[in-house]
Amino acid sequence: MTTNTNNKEKNILDSVIYSYTSDTNQMNEENRILKETVNKLKEELDKFKTTPLMVCDVRDIFGKDAIIRLPNGNQFYVTVSEECGKLKPGDVVLTDQKNLTIIRKMPLTKQFDIESFVIVEKPKVPWSAIGGLDLQVQEIKEVVELPLKRPELFKKIGITPPKGILLYGKPGTGKTLLAKAVAASTNSTFIEVVASELVQKFIGEGAKMVKEIFELARKKAPSIIFIDELDALAARRIEIGTSGEREVSRTFMQLLAEIDGFEPLDNVKVIGATNRKDILDPAVIRPGRLDRLIHIPLPKKEARLEILKIHSGSMSLGKDVDLSNLSADMEDFSGAEIKAACTEAGYFAIRENRTSIIRRDFLRGIEKVKQEEEAEGGDYMRMFG
Ligand code: ATP
Repeated sequence: MTTNTNNKEKNILDSVIYSYTSDTNQMNEENRILKETVNKLKEELDKFKTTPLMVCDVRDIFGKDAIIRLPNGNQFYVTVSEECGKLKPGDVVLTDQKNLTIIRKMPLTKQFDIESFVIVEKPKVPWSAIGGLDLQVQEIKEVVELPLKRPELFKKIGITPPKGILLYGKPGTGKTLLAKAVAASTNSTFIEVVASELVQKFIGEGAKMVKEIFELARKKAPSIIFIDELDALAARRIEIGTSGEREVSRTFMQLLAEIDGFEPLDNVKVIGATNRKDILDPAVIRPGRLDRLIHIPLPKKEARLEILKIHSGSMSLGKDVDLSNLSADMEDFSGAEIKAACTEAGYFAIRENRTSIIRRDFLRGIEKVKQEEEAEGGDYMRMFG
């Protein structure tokens, strides 16, 4: 009897001990999870407390000190931390915000991938896609195509071709088209940069971008660097006051340095384009730089007819369409506007459920482009440009 009671009590005790043990295990586990969470939160909190480091460029080294350039363009003489390792001018470093001591060097990986900021392509524009610019095409073939295709010829004769050319003329006259055609005919990589974007979007980085663009061009040679709206970067400046102007000027200086840095017979060519040749800084068109200026005019009647033939080439035209007459109605139209008039004519036919385009469609298309041009001051052209 007593043994039985003892056993029973022991069992009860065991189960109580077991339940306490399992409770403590559970609590220990909970405690561990909570501790982990607290640690993680502490780490996160620390991240918020640390002050950010500043990204600067090293300009010069003087023993254990260095001159750095801040993103705003200001330069400072600072000390270099022991752990930083060996530095050289041009390195990108992280500095303390208060005393600007260089804390560490940025890894060598590129800060940005230049190819995602500029348009890099292998265009397929044939010379036959350009109408009414025979003289200009001829000149570009001589000064850009020939040196890229047959540099030995120039060496033999002993003349140096221009490193680059400047195409200037009204918007929509085919400057980009010409540049793409010469890239296609020489099987070159076409790197398109819009100068206004370079100075607006990449504040503080413009000069570096220019450097990287030329590096990319050399890597992918033969290449053509096409700089559209060059005036945004290379406009003559009377005084350089604001930091924005300083930045543009630095980017421009870098561009000149890069153009000076390669040889005329290297397989990189620069083609600049502008609608405002009048405001360009003469430095950019000095001999040895973009010293061949090619004017791309608005097309005259004959030229307009050629362009019209190109753009209506794949359209199904009605019998009453006389392209020669139509081109006479397009006085003062640029190539882009002629293309726009063709597209509009097509839309007028679609609206009337026709598959062939008749003279009336063209006349309406021309009228529409004229009206839009007057109303928008050219925005319409850009839509189709
Ligand atoms: P912007 O100064 O605005 O950059 P742009 O002079 O570079 O203009 P393009 O972009 O080459 O002009 O031309 C826009 C479009 O107009 C071309 O894609 C082409 O379809 C048409 N075009 C312009 N000129 C011609 C031309 N001479 N022959 C055939 N098409 C042309």
